[in-house]
Amino acid sequence: MRLVIDYRKCLKSGQCSYLHAELITADPDGTPRVIAERLGEDLRAAAEDAVDLCPSGAISLTEE
Ligand code: SF4
Repeated sequence: MRLVIDYRKCLKSGQCSYLHAELITADPDGTPRVIAERLGEDLRAAAEDAVDLCPSGAISLTEE
């Protein structure tokens, strides 16, 4: 499972890194960065919440 950020959609609003710092950090200019390449099942609920909270639909979860 992976989190993917579509930088064409991202508004750099910061909700994802603020509310899910265990998954996403942010560069000084606000660009979010996914911390872990692969996520374990223990982080699924948090990852799904990050997808839901993004105001621009820039975050998606893939099962690959
Ligand atoms: S919540 Fe969405 S729009 Fe805001 S910084 Fe994260 S990915 Fe970008």
